[in-house]
Parts: sequence; C-alpha cells; structure tokens
Amino acid sequence: MNNKPMLNAYPDSMGGRLSDIVSLLGRDELKEAFGSFYILPSIYHSDLDRGFSVIDYDINEELAGRQDLEELKKLGIDLKLDFILNHASTGSPQFRDLVKRGEQSEYKDFFINWNDFWQGCGSMTEEGYIQPDRKYLENMFFRKPGLPILMVRFPDGKKVPYWNTFYQEEHYPLYLGQMDLNIRSPKVWDFYKETLKKIASYGADIVRLDAFAYAPKEPGAKNFLNEPGTWELLGRIQELASPHKLTLLPEIHATYEEQIYKKLSDKGYVTYDFFLPGLVIDAIENKRSTYLAAWARELVENDIKVVNMLGCHDGIPLLDLKGILPETEIQNLIELIVERGGLVKNLHGQKNMYYQVNATYFSALGESEQKLLMARAIQLFMPGKPQIWYLDLFAGKNDHEAVKRAGASGHKEINRTNLTAAEVNEALKKEVVQKQIELIRFRNTCRAFEEGAKVSVEEEAGILRITWKKDTFCAELMVDFLNERYEIREI
Ligand code: BGC
Repeated sequence: MNNKPMLNAYPDSMGGRLSDIVSLLGRDELKEAFGSFYILPSIYHSDLDRGFSVIDYDINEELAGRQDLEELKKLGIDLKLDFILNHASTGSPQFRDLVKRGEQSEYKDFFINWNDFWQGCGSMTEEGYIQPDRKYLENMFFRKPGLPILMVRFPDGKKVPYWNTFYQEEHYPLYLGQMDLNIRSPKVWDFYKETLKKIASYGADIVRLDAFAYAPKEPGAKNFLNEPGTWELLGRIQELASPHKLTLLPEIHATYEEQIYKKLSDKGYVTYDFFLPGLVIDAIENKRSTYLAAWARELVENDIKVVNMLGCHDGIPLLDLKGILPETEIQNLIELIVERGGLVKNLHGQKNMYYQVNATYFSALGESEQKLLMARAIQLFMPGKPQIWYLDLFAGKNDHEAVKRAGASGHKEINRTNLTAAEVNEALKKEVVQKQIELIRFRNTCRAFEEGAKVSVEEEAGILRITWKKDTFCAELMVDFLNERYEIREI
C-alpha cells in the first residue's frame, strides 16, 4: 500500500455519477492531488444503509461503470473498495432463495437461523424465537433495542428468526435488512472467495473489511471481537486475498485502552487511525498538542501502518479515545460538537454507548476555515495514508434538512450531502478549498513523503513539529496551537 492521499466519496457524491468525479479528478484544479480513491459500496448493487447492504457485488450501473474505474487507473489513482463480510441484503439472491424455498433452500444455512444457533441455550417465546438465557447475553453487544432478529416468513407460513445486527425495515411482503452471514457455512466461504476475486477484478488495491468483527459468533462468547474467532476469520480472509495482491484494511472501532489497533498491527494488518479525528479536535480546541504528539510518536516508534482521516461517511469517533484522554475531556468534546449542531445517537437510550458524534468535521470545528486548514495540515503530516472525505474538502456544513428527510436512523445524513456539479464548481473557487488542495497535492508530490521516509515528532509548549525526510528531501510542519497558526517548509 502506498501512502499517498486518498479521496473518499460515494459514487454520486459530486455531480451524480462516478464519471463526474472521474472528470473532476482529471481537471487542473485537482490534478495530481490524489493517489487513491475509496469509493463507498453503493458502487455495488445495494439497498439500505447507503451501500452497506449489498445485493450483489456487480457494479451498480445507475451510478458507475467499469470504464470509470479504468479511467481512474489512467489518472494514476488506485482503489479502495468495501467487502462487507458480516452481512448481505435481504435482496441478495441467496436470501431471496431462502424466502422462496424455505427449508428446501440450498441457502438455508447461509444466514444465521437464530433458533438453530441458540438451540439448548434459552427458552422459546410465544413469538417463535429463542430468548437466550441471561448468562449468554451478558457479554453481548447489541446495536439496537431488543434482540437482533428479523422474523422471516417461509413459504409454508412459518416465521423463522434470522440474525440481523445492523439495519432492517419491514414492509411485508418486502423485507429490507442487512442479514448476518453464517461463517460456519462452506457456501459463505465460496461466496467470500468469489467476492474477493470480483473486487480484485475492479482493480482494487485495498479492501476495507467492513464491520468484520461482528461475524464470528458462538453461544457463550462475545458477538463482537470474540477471540480467537476474529483472528482466525481474518487469517482465512487473508489467505483468500493474497493471491489477488489485495491489502486488507480491517475496520474496527474499539477504545484505545483495549489496544486492538496494536494487536492488528502486530499481526501485520494495516489499521484505521480512528483516534486522529478526536485528537486533532482536542489539540485545536484545547490549544495543546501533548496527546496528539504522543500518538504520532507511538505510530512512528512501533511502525504502525494506518489509514487516517478527519471526517468520513460515519460519525466522528470519540469514545475510541478512552485510555488516551480522561473521560471528562471526551465528554467535553462531545458536548462541544453537539453545541455546534452535531448529533449523538445514544444506543438504546444509554449514554456513552454510542461511539460517534454525527457532524461534518468543519462544523465540529465551529466552521472556522483556519481550524480546518490546521487540521488538514496535521492530518497530511501524520504517519500513515491520509483519507480525505469529499465534504470536508469542500468545507461542508451540518445538513440538518437531510437528517429530517431521512427520518428514523437518518442521523448520518448530516455529513453525506450530495453536491451538484455547479456546487462543486462554486466550492472550488473558495480559498479554504484551494488551500486544502494545495496541501494535499504537496503531500502527493513532495519527495520527502516517499516510501521509506523517516518521520520525527517534536512537541513543546503548544508547538508541534512533524518532519518527513527521504534521502535529501525534507518537509516540516510547525503548528502553533496557542496562536492557531501553521507553517510548512521544504528544506
Ligand atoms: C460502516 C457503517 C455501516 C456498518 C454496517 C460500518 O462499519 O462504516 O457505515 O452502517 O458498518 O455495514
């Protein structure tokens, strides 16, 4: 994996179709800015959750075509694509077959039949699903109220519960939902193999393993990041990915104190730097660089390979910072972003369970252009591969109208506004946009950032210096948090 800046967007984020983004990337304003592009999974046939409920991994011709991917390659831009191995849409051929044929379906075990799974571990309810005994539920992490099941009607009228960790909507006879896959089924492994082959055929270099730690499940164990199940799963996926030369990027949110990022790194995986977005806000708002500098040093000293970001299609992860920042300080940051219009979705009404605050990064920074530029400069000098959310690039503000339009569980829409071609053109004239592009292009083209560069981090009295050196090339960032100022020098 190279460490060049990576754009991140949905295929329809800028102009309506992927081809519009491809043309944009070829224009003088953005030429040579990006070395990679993470295209979100609505590039595949999908229904719910803006792409994360995949029907099949063929290209969604309403938004994109193979030729767009080829054009990206010609621009010297490689790809990161999603592989969602925990679940598939109710619209997938496998699930449709299950609903059609019920017990006779060859995909009967492709998904997780809740009652088969919990056989002997609980009591049957009147509704027809097993309520697992309390001891089994103690270690479980459910993302929604009640048990994570969707009752599916078989052709004989019988209702059968299937495991459904993420979103669902029921409009009988139509189901919408992200149905968990049963990793004990050989058919699921055939599907994994075929899917990785298909993703590789699109020219992907990096494969993001979405929410993979929910996949290994067994009674009596955690249903998120159970060990060693999670590592075994990753190992097997790595074996399938290796022949295609794909770099796996497992997506996992956990608190710093759990040190999961370290385990992943020790096992040789690239990890996500989900600490950076919160640490940058902490440094800028609290005018200190101690925590940020310590994290940057840890990355360098332990040679931890990361993809980092400011904003992304999800919220700003702040509870991940537990173990780095004192809890009251995390709470203060959450409150600050909420005061600035951000949204917190408390999980089942329980405070502090949900790890993300939904806001654009620009709004989270109080819509200060200077702060956004400082944040971007820091991100680009942090060790790792910088991923750049299109809406941050255009200094996008919280979109409360979109949240209202989306209704229940539409909180993430605050930071996913599609821009028209005209809006993009207008935005490209803004100084805050042009200056960010200049910074990104610098990172993409300055030879001090090439493979094998040495990074050093110094920090004193609110001033942070990050230096990259490769052969005779050297680039240095100085950030003065007290005076909200930064400077870049090429030495
Ligand atoms: C993605 C989310 C998605 C979820 C389920 C996450 O990790 O980032 O956007 O809702 O996985 O696929």
